[in-house]
Amino acid sequence: MRKPLIAANWKMNGSLADNEKRLASLLEIVTDLKKKDVVIFPPAIYIPQVANLLYNSDIAWGFQNVFYEVSGAYTGEHSPLMAKDYGVTYALVGHSERRVLFGETDEQIFKKISCFLSSGLIPILCIGETLEQYEQKKTNETLKAQLHAVFQHDPELKQEFIIAYEPVWAIGSGRAATETEVQSVHADIRQIMKEQYPKWYSKSMRIIYGGSVTPSNSESFLSQPDIDGLLVGGASLKASDFISICTGKG
Ligand code: PEP
Repeated sequence: MRKPLIAANWKMNGSLADNEKRLASLLEIVTDLKKKDVVIFPPAIYIPQVANLLYNSDIAWGFQNVFYEVSGAYTGEHSPLMAKDYGVTYALVGHSERRVLFGETDEQIFKKISCFLSSGLIPILCIGETLEQYEQKKTNETLKAQLHAVFQHDPELKQEFIIAYEPVWAIGSGRAATETEVQSVHADIRQIMKEQYPKWYSKSMRIIYGGSVTPSNSESFLSQPDIDGLLVGGASLKASDFISICTGKG
């Protein structure tokens, strides 16, 4: 049985005051969330604030971006060990905004995943096709290449990691994929992992969906057998929407 995971990617949004309000509303209903893992990804500078507010709650917090070395001359970066110092559990890697805007490469993505696993962070690897690839029916081929870039290497440690399927055309566009499309892609990802990368695969591996998730479509995604959670961007900034998505009371 895979426990659903609902993740809030705040991207580069928020302020001390806004974050506090948003998290206070979430903490009020935290007892309704026992059946799901909930994780908040604030901008890195707010990690100490979020850690402080969520400390001792059932809600976890994560980094949107962490480097693949634990210390050294890497101006502007944060290390996985620094993240651990602040009680961070999860780290996003390979988000399309990082791939496109910051040139994150497959090689860096693999290094990050290895470093996170050995540092005790749970990576959430984001993969997904562009609109052009979707229209040309190249989703499967694109995802296979993105999976191969990471999982062709043998794992040094077999630990928990999560895959987030995020079609680039659905991110922030208001045009979500349908639950049938996503279910079919997730089933394919699971099959590819099982057959081609058995050293990485485990039955408990979660595959979550991201791309214009809202309170009105979240439950239809979660009702599918291979959709093990949601990565929520825009709708996670409005406390009432994110709470509806987490509680399923949309
Ligand atoms: C995201 O950035 O990971 C995302 C899914 O954004 P949105 O929910 O706004 O589409």
